[in-house]
Amino acid sequence: MLLRTTVERSDARAVLSKLGLTFFALLLMSLPKLQSQTVAMTVDDLPYVPGEWRPLGPNDGRSALQTNRKILHTFSRHHIPATGFMVEQHGEQLGAQTSRKILKQWIRPGFDLGNHFYSHADFDSISVELAEQEILRGESTIRPLLEGVSRAPRYMRFPYNHTGETQEKHDSMVAFLAAHGYQMAPCTIDNSDYEFNHTYTLALARHDTQTAEKVRADYIAYTAEEIDWYTKLDRQVFGRDVTHIMLLHDSPLNADTIEAVIGLFTQRGYRFVTLTEALRDHAYATPETYITKFGPMWGYRWARELNVKVNGRDEPDPPVWLDQYVKEAHTGAN
Ligand SMILES: [Zn+2]
Repeated sequence: MLLRTTVERSDARAVLSKLGLTFFALLLMSLPKLQSQTVAMTVDDLPYVPGEWRPLGPNDGRSALQTNRKILHTFSRHHIPATGFMVEQHGEQLGAQTSRKILKQWIRPGFDLGNHFYSHADFDSISVELAEQEILRGESTIRPLLEGVSRAPRYMRFPYNHTGETQEKHDSMVAFLAAHGYQMAPCTIDNSDYEFNHTYTLALARHDTQTAEKVRADYIAYTAEEIDWYTKLDRQVFGRDVTHIMLLHDSPLNADTIEAVIGLFTQRGYRFVTLTEALRDHAYATPETYITKFGPMWGYRWARELNVKVNGRDEPDPPVWLDQYVKEAHTGAN
C-alpha cells in the first residue's frame, strides 16, 4: 500500500513535472513571438500643437508645458524612449524661454530631438535650396542644446512626410542630410491624431465634455485599428514583423491619452526601442525608388518599391463625425 502510494505519488510528480516542462516549453515558444514586435515612438511638431493650424503665442505657454510634461512623464514611467521633432519657428512664436524649457526635457536620457524644418514648410512646394535653409535654421535651438550634452541632431522628419516629388529633389536632399550628419526619419504607423486633436481641443474649449470623451474613446479605438492595419501591411510586404515607428503629435489629445496609446502596444506584446534601434531593421535600408508628392507611411512605399500588391483603400478612415463637429461648430449649428 505504502509502495503503491509512493509510486502513485512519484508518477503524479512525473506527470506534473512533464506538464510543467510542456508549459515552460510553450511559454518559451511564445516568447520570441511576443518579443518580435518592436516600435519606436516619435512625436512631431514640438514645442506644441494647439488644435487648429494657427500660429502659437506666449499665451499657449501653460498648455504647451503641461502637454509635454504629461507625455514625457508617461514615457518615463514606462521606460519608453522617444524622439521629438522640433519646428523652430513655432518655438519662437511660443517664446524662447518656454520653448527651451520644453526642449530641455526632451534631451534627458532616453529622449532625443530631431529637426522638422524651420517653418514646417512643404518640401513639395519649395526648392531644394530653400529646404536646406529650413533644415539649417531649424536647428538653431536644438543643436546647441544637444551639443551641451555632447550630442548632435541626427534625425530629420519631412513635414507632411513629403520627401520630394521628383527623384532629383529627393536624392539632393538625402545627400544634403548625410553631409550634415542627418538621417531621414521615416514612420510606419499613422493614426490621424491631428484630426482627432482638432475636434478634441475645440470640444474642450466649448466645455463640451461629452464630445471630448467621445473623441478620446474613438481615438483609442481607431489607433488600435491602425496599429493592426499597418502591422498587417508591413507583414504582407516583408513576410515578417518590421520594427515600427509610430507617428504622434505634441498635442493635448495625446497628453490625455498617451497611457492608453502605450497600452495598445503593450497589450499586443510590443517592446519599445529608440529610433536608432528601429532604423537598424533592414526594412529601412530598402532603396527609395518610389517617388510621390503625397506622404504615405513607409509600408505603402515599400510595397511599391518591392512590387507587392497591397490595397490601401481598405485602410480604416477616422470617423466622419470628427470633421462634421468642427464644421458645425464654425457655422454655429451646434
Ligand atoms: Zn509636422
